[in-house]
Amino acid sequence: MILRGTVIWTPALGRAEVRERAYLVADGPTVRGVFDQLPADCADKPVTDYGDALIIPAFVDAHVHAPQFLNAGIGMDDELLPWLNRRTFPLEARFADPAFADRAYRAFLNALWEAGTLRFCAFATVHARATWHLMQLAESAGFSGLVGKVNMDRNAPEALTEDTAASLAQTEELALRARSELRNIGFIVTPRFVPSTTPALMEGLGALVEKHQLPVQSHVDENRGEVALVRELHPEARSYAHVYDDFGLMPTGRTVLAHAIWLTDPEVELLREKRVLVAHSPQSNANLTSGIMPARRWLSAGLSCAVASDLAAGSDACLARHAACAVQVSKLNQVSHAEETALHVPEALYLVTKGPGCFAGFAQPSGSFEPGFRADALVVGGERAAALDELLPRTPLERLERFLYAGDSRDICARYAAGALMERPF
Ligand SMILES: [Zn+2]
Repeated sequence: MILRGTVIWTPALGRAEVRERAYLVADGPTVRGVFDQLPADCADKPVTDYGDALIIPAFVDAHVHAPQFLNAGIGMDDELLPWLNRRTFPLEARFADPAFADRAYRAFLNALWEAGTLRFCAFATVHARATWHLMQLAESAGFSGLVGKVNMDRNAPEALTEDTAASLAQTEELALRARSELRNIGFIVTPRFVPSTTPALMEGLGALVEKHQLPVQSHVDENRGEVALVRELHPEARSYAHVYDDFGLMPTGRTVLAHAIWLTDPEVELLREKRVLVAHSPQSNANLTSGIMPARRWLSAGLSCAVASDLAAGSDACLARHAACAVQVSKLNQVSHAEETALHVPEALYLVTKGPGCFAGFAQPSGSFEPGFRADALVVGGERAAALDELLPRTPLERLERFLYAGDSRDICARYAAGALMERPF
C-alpha cells in the first residue's frame, strides 16, 4: 500500500506530526513509514494519490457494546442502573436468537466501518453462540480487535443470569477456539461489572486469565449508585477496583476498564501499577448522568487513557465526535477545577488512535504511522470539505479539527485495514 496525501498522526500524547504531499508506505499489513520522497524500491509500485485529503490512522474503539448498537439514542433519560434494567438487558436477551444476532451484528459492523473504526474492544452478550458469530463476522470483514462473551450470574434478569460453571466453561471454550481459528480477532474475558458477577464466577475467570494469559475488560467507578452497590456487596475489598485485582482480573498491561470517574487515590495507584487502559466515554457519562472523568488529572498521574464510544450509552458510533466531546467536557471540568486543564485536539486524536491502538492485548499495535504498526488508515476529505476549503483555505490541523468536531462518515473517502482497501462489510 502506498498512499499519497497530507499525512497526520500522533506518535505521543499531544504531539501531532503533519507531512503534506507525503507518502504513507506499508509492506503488506505493516507500516514502513511516512516519506517525503517515494523510496527507491517503490518507484515502480502503484501509488494511490488522494491530493490534498488528510490521511490519518483509523480509529480504535477501546470500549463498545456490540449488541447495544440498536439502542443508540434511545432511553437517554435514565441513569446507569435503571437504564440497564429497562433498556440494555431486554435488548441483550434477544441475542439468544441466532437470526436476530446475525442481522444486528452485521448492522453494528457496518456502522463501525462507516464511522472509520477498524479496530475495537467489544462486549457481546452472555450468549456464546452469538458471540462466536460476531467474532467470525468481524474477522471475515477485515476488522481487528477483541470480543468478549459477557459473564453475569447475579443481579440480572432471569433470561441473562448464567449458571456459574456453564459460564466459565463457555468462556474457556471461546477463548481457545478464537486462538486456534481466528487471526485478527481475539477473545477478551468480560465480566460485565462487579455487581453482575459472583465471587465464584470472578474467581473462576481469574483462573482462566492466568491459565491462558488472557486480556480482561470491564467497568469501574462509573456511577455513584453503582459504587455504593459494590461497597455493599464487597465490604471486604479495599475499593471497587481492588475487587477485580483480588480475583485475578487485572492482569498487568492486559486490562481495559471503562469510565473510572470516581477513582480513589489507592485505585489510581493500582491502575497505574497494573498499566490498565482507562476507556473514557464522556458522551456516555453525560447521557447517563454519571459524572465527569478528570482526564487531565488521570493522565498527569500516569494512567493510560483512551476515548471510547461506549455504545449505546454513548449515542454516536463515530469516534470523531467522542474525541471532540472529550475536549469539550474537559473544558467544562476546567471551569470548576482550575488544575484540570482542558485537552486539545492533537491529544484527542491520540486518545482515539495510538492510545487505544497500543493496548498490549492486541497482537500488533495500530493507531500510528510508525514502522511496525498495523497499516490501518482513513482518508478524510472529499467534496464537502473541498468545497469549504476552496472558499476559505485551512491548514491541515484545522481540517483535522473540523472533521473531529463537525465531520462524519460522509467525509471519509476510503478506509484501509492491514494495508488493503476495506470495502463496506455487508
Ligand atoms: Zn460500557
